[in-house]
Amino acid sequence: MILGIPKETNDRRVAFAPATLAKAVKELGVEAWVETGAGTASSFPDASFTDTAKVVSRAELLKNADIIVSINPLPESEWKLLKKDAMVISRFEPFIKPEVVGKLQDAGLRACSLDMIPRTTLAQSMDVLSSLASIAGYKAVLEAAHFLPRYFPMLITAAGSVKPSTVLVLGAGVAGLQAIATAKRLGAIVEASDTRLAAKEEVESLGGRFIMVEGASDDTSAGGYAVEQSEDFLKRQREEVQARAAKADVIITTAQVRGRKAPMLLPADTVNKMKPGSVIIDLAASTGGNCELTKDGEVIMHNGVIIVGNSDLSQDLPQDASFLFGNNVLNYMKLFVKGGEFQIDESNVIISQSFITAAVNA
Ligand code: NAD
Repeated sequence: MILGIPKETNDRRVAFAPATLAKAVKELGVEAWVETGAGTASSFPDASFTDTAKVVSRAELLKNADIIVSINPLPESEWKLLKKDAMVISRFEPFIKPEVVGKLQDAGLRACSLDMIPRTTLAQSMDVLSSLASIAGYKAVLEAAHFLPRYFPMLITAAGSVKPSTVLVLGAGVAGLQAIATAKRLGAIVEASDTRLAAKEEVESLGGRFIMVEGASDDTSAGGYAVEQSEDFLKRQREEVQARAAKADVIITTAQVRGRKAPMLLPADTVNKMKPGSVIIDLAASTGGNCELTKDGEVIMHNGVIIVGNSDLSQDLPQDASFLFGNNVLNYMKLFVKGGEFQIDESNVIISQSFITAAVNA
């Protein structure tokens, strides 16, 4: 059985780091093929794979692989080049693009969507969303520090005292919590808001101050994800946020509602009240942004406030992002690849939720 790792398109990461691929060969009993140059942008040259894998052209890889793992789905135009019944493992986002399931099925492919793995304790080691979100949260703080014309920590120097910066984090999920921890380590004062009450304790345990807005819908049956809030709640939350935002030096927004447009938490009015030189990093940019003025994939300046719209900051740490992504996928594949063969237990809930086409094709 050949496990194929293609070069990503417009992405510096690669689905497996060499060390993890070596483990995959041993633990899954597969043969590994890697596309030429697949790891170059994440500082894994072809030579770092050659002990474990065959380095081949894209055409050879697509034609021969039984399983193809990629961080981003292969372009649809290439699906017809794959082996019949090949398995593709990637992030297909069927909760945003439900039509992808029918298309994959029509192409005769077996597809596993890593973003459909349930967020349970058992599946934690397979959770690519957490690995990438955590990196994005960390990088968001570094990106903010890069643009901010001030220090993060309080400093007392012979030339005078510097007050610490205040960082406001909206959305205290995986990315938000990592942003809080990183900003605290840099010495900032950190405040955070979330609609899930469980976040309060987590924020406080990292030394952040939790901004409480009463009346949030908090549905614990939503698999850990937030649910959409009423207009009344969002209005009161915006008022609370507006007051804090005016004083903040940095705002990092990560608020998402799975399968829906991101909630708008920072209207232009709020940004107008912010101090010149302040920075907003909007990690929800790709789903509409938490700030009204965000432009996805752009850095803009509005009244002296810098607004960075980037939902893919884990690309800026490609080596660790690739390493953790591959580790997650290896843990996942161990569920259904054994001794170089598929052994698929469709009653396993991780498998039944993440196999988005039939697990075994007729
Ligand atoms: P996410 O990316 O879907 O959303 C980011 C955060 O935005 C969430 O905390 C969400 O509650 C918050 N949010 C949504 N609307 C908001 C609003 N109007 N105002 C403020 N905040 C808002 O979430 P995520 O980071 O992927 O994590 C989702 C949940 O899954 C969390 O509860 C997390 O602890 C849980 N989780 C569990 C596991 C596991 O057990 N395997 C792994 C990862 C995450």
